[in-house]
Amino acid sequence: MSWRDVMCGDPRTEHVGKTLTLGGWADTRRDHGGLVFVDLRDHTGTTQLVINPERSPAAAEVAKEIRNEFVLRARGEVVERAPETVNAAMPTGEVEVQVDDLEIVSRSTPLPFQLDEEGVDENLRLRYRWLDLRTPRMQRNMRLAHTVISSIRRTMDGLGFIDVWTPSMTRGTPEGARDFLVPVRLQPGRFFALAQSPQIFKQLCMIGGLDRYYQIATCWRDEDLRADRQFEFRQLDLEMAFVEREDVLDVLEQVVVEAFAAVGRDAPTRPFPRLTYADALLRYGTDKPDLRFGLEIQDATEVTRGSEFGIFGGAETVRFLTVPRVFSRAELQRLEEIAKEWGAKGLAYLVYEGGEVRSPIAKFLSEAELDAFRAEQGSTVLFGAGDAATVARVLGGMRIHLGRELELASDEELFHWVVDFPLFEIDDDTGNWTFLHHPFTAPIAGHEDRVAGDPGNALSQHYDLVWNGWELGSGSIRIHRADVQQDVFRTMGMTDDEARGKFAFLLDALAMGAPPHGGFAMGIERFLALMADEPNIRQVVAFPKVSSGSDPLTGAPAPAGTEQLRELGIRLVDENPT
Ligand code: ASP
Repeated sequence: MSWRDVMCGDPRTEHVGKTLTLGGWADTRRDHGGLVFVDLRDHTGTTQLVINPERSPAAAEVAKEIRNEFVLRARGEVVERAPETVNAAMPTGEVEVQVDDLEIVSRSTPLPFQLDEEGVDENLRLRYRWLDLRTPRMQRNMRLAHTVISSIRRTMDGLGFIDVWTPSMTRGTPEGARDFLVPVRLQPGRFFALAQSPQIFKQLCMIGGLDRYYQIATCWRDEDLRADRQFEFRQLDLEMAFVEREDVLDVLEQVVVEAFAAVGRDAPTRPFPRLTYADALLRYGTDKPDLRFGLEIQDATEVTRGSEFGIFGGAETVRFLTVPRVFSRAELQRLEEIAKEWGAKGLAYLVYEGGEVRSPIAKFLSEAELDAFRAEQGSTVLFGAGDAATVARVLGGMRIHLGRELELASDEELFHWVVDFPLFEIDDDTGNWTFLHHPFTAPIAGHEDRVAGDPGNALSQHYDLVWNGWELGSGSIRIHRADVQQDVFRTMGMTDDEARGKFAFLLDALAMGAPPHGGFAMGIERFLALMADEPNIRQVVAFPKVSSGSDPLTGAPAPAGTEQLRELGIRLVDENPT
């Protein structure tokens, strides 16, 4: 007997009369007093096996022992089911296999959870991931991942990109996270860092004349794990020479649209809208807005200047949101608590209801102010007052919260670009200027002098791709002049010696004929999770880690043996860590 002639999802009426062998897992077993039914499953579907003691006494003996998830090989005749037993919900539901030979190929211990069980604890699913991978959900996600990644590769290939492998073990790459360090036995006391991204290598590929590079690159970043973050993740990483921003965006839009086509979904409309960073913060309070609903933030700083309501009058920024709903006092109190969690001191409001305005602050507001805020009956105006960053955070958070709560989002898939980010921001820890994206991002044309002279007002050629409020990735046109790169390092507070100490190879390369270039990196798992409509990237990763940073399957990370540590020249501060 061969292992299988057809897959479990294959049998149809055209097979009737044929004797076929099938292999797979026992999905369910039903004993009807003598007659035993087993649904045999593989990734293509299930077929009903019928084991009849009159037809095959030997098979009937074997069938008694079958339990869920045993691996079976069955040989028998495909027959048409009686009309009343046809199962329209199953693609193979018009036929069944009358078994002649049945073999238990492999047994299973009792299962920690049933494959069709709802709400199984995620740690348990991950501990027994090989079982979890057999569920329709994980089968679908893993195959979807493959389809999408194959499509990405085809698109990149079609556009003339070449796949170049870059090292994982390297020097620290500044992407704003902590490095994972790798000790080196041959050079005790020295460490490689696992690449946070192939950023500098891909730039060197451009300087090396490779013209169009891409890679489905694994990146390692020591950051707290979240729904959209793992220690290691993949990026569609790409770089192009002799391009401007629009050339790069065009490639990404093609990648996205073709991936949608590959999974049989309607593609989002191109070109994706472009929104400036300043506009995004002003209107949506975030640089990754969810544009599936309006609820735009409006500015009221001018009209409230000198307001009798002191909190408005003295505030650097006053903005508001008009929500198409009337909130009760209790609801407003709860919204205020939420606003306070984001840094607000309180939550001023105006409720338009019954032809009146209900608000403790209305009496302090001038006619001009009330005119500016006037909204339709049945709405509530919510205010944020304070410094611009806090107001954006509070009202941006409020907008997302209310968008969800009031189910305002349309069911379109909305992609857009955020462009014209600032080049630098102040690092709260050091008080120094630091990069917003990474230090290799070019200023926009005409802002080169601001790098040294007016860093706070230098805009950059950095762009982000956002899908329904998730940041899918970032990229930029890079600095291709060694002097501008030096200026960026200086503005960040590095001496020239420090800069050479870390980046001599890049500075030297930039000084030897660097073409203009730019690129992008799109988070593969984020893209897949959204494609699969999964709330968490763990559901599209075969073997993910949980939020504590460990892997329930293997138990990693694990302590290292004394001998191994000695060889690496490492002594632990705490000999008995918990
Ligand atoms: N290296 C950047 C990142 O990983 C992407 C890029 O600028 O191409 O976010």
